[in-house]
Amino acid sequence: MGERKKIVTIPGDGIGPEIVREARKVLDKVCEKYGHTFHYEDILMGGCSIDAYGVPLTEEALATAKAADAVLLGAVGGIVGRDSWYELPPNLRPEAGLLAIRKGLGLFANLRPAKLYSELKEACPLREASADAGFDLVVVRELTGGLYFGDRKTEEVDGVLTATDTLVYNENEIRRIAVKAFETARKRRKKVTSVDKANVLDSSRLWRKVTAEVAKDYPDVELSDMLVDNCAMQLVKDPSQFDVILTENMFGDILSDEASMITGSIGMLPSASLAEGSFGLYEPSHGAAPDIAGKNLANPLATILSAAMLLRYSFDMDAEADAVEAAVAQVLKEGYRTGDIFSEGCTKVSCSEMGDLVCERI
Ligand code: NAD
Repeated sequence: MGERKKIVTIPGDGIGPEIVREARKVLDKVCEKYGHTFHYEDILMGGCSIDAYGVPLTEEALATAKAADAVLLGAVGGIVGRDSWYELPPNLRPEAGLLAIRKGLGLFANLRPAKLYSELKEACPLREASADAGFDLVVVRELTGGLYFGDRKTEEVDGVLTATDTLVYNENEIRRIAVKAFETARKRRKKVTSVDKANVLDSSRLWRKVTAEVAKDYPDVELSDMLVDNCAMQLVKDPSQFDVILTENMFGDILSDEASMITGSIGMLPSASLAEGSFGLYEPSHGAAPDIAGKNLANPLATILSAAMLLRYSFDMDAEADAVEAAVAQVLKEGYRTGDIFSEGCTKVSCSEMGDLVCERI
């Protein structure tokens, strides 16, 4: 029996509309094959919303997104100096829409997978042995607490300028992100590495304590702790050891970028930002790529893989998500590449051709 779901799509700016179009094609193919019905509604966000309404995200658009089962986003933004959006104050610029929607939707967990496809291992900047071993990990980052949200001030203390930032986590904030990490691990290889700086920070010691408590509810998932400095090294030494990396906001900011970089392929990296329950916003990790916008050159695979995450994490459709991911792997195996991941001997295809090729293999 097929399911009915409502997906809000946000094409946004630059290559956004092109890559979201391809991801929708893929979702439509999933519906056709598995008997589901997805109802889509487009909203404006970013520069296109500024052009239409003067703000990067309207209250109405946010309310529409809130009422959906999940949100699929392309990208927003343009070029400073070229686009008049950047003459506006920062809170009215395209990227302010991203902050507003993340806050408005209560997204507190950010999932960034980093997977090295064996066909793309030449792009991996690590030693050949590490690239050959491959890796497939996901960084689960807390998104709404910690150092980026604590009180901060700069003041003169005894005539010396002094800046203070505070890193605060309460046990509830830690528990809910830990639960997301363990749930994520259950859909993968059932291994969580919790990353902290417990040899120095109190917040990390609480993080360890609460994570260990949560682990008791997941006896099928293996938990280990790792210090963040060690994790940064292990990621470049042997990323194959990781399945789910669970960490707080700032460590996650840094480690998720490091994990992305070791794949070497920005056009391949999906992401999810999750709220309580099953609601989530899914988007590629890259930006609006204004330099190639409107030319049918963009790689849609990061967005298509984001749609696969949407199926897996918001709709609990694991078989459908597996089918999309397998189709992407198959297309790569057959040698089809967009320009950004092209190498000698492969077949160069456009954004829309890549979408079609994935659909045909579902
Ligand atoms: P970017 O990710 O847009 O582009 C970096 C480089 O990678 C460019 O050369 C681009 O052509 C290429 N690239 C990115 N995605 C690609 C794809 N799918 N296929 C092929 N090539 C791809 O980063 P940037 O240049 O720093 O930012 C451009 C704009 O996007 C800015 O306005 C920025 O603020 C915005 N941005 C938006 C988001 C978002 O919407 N979440 C994230 C990052 C940047």
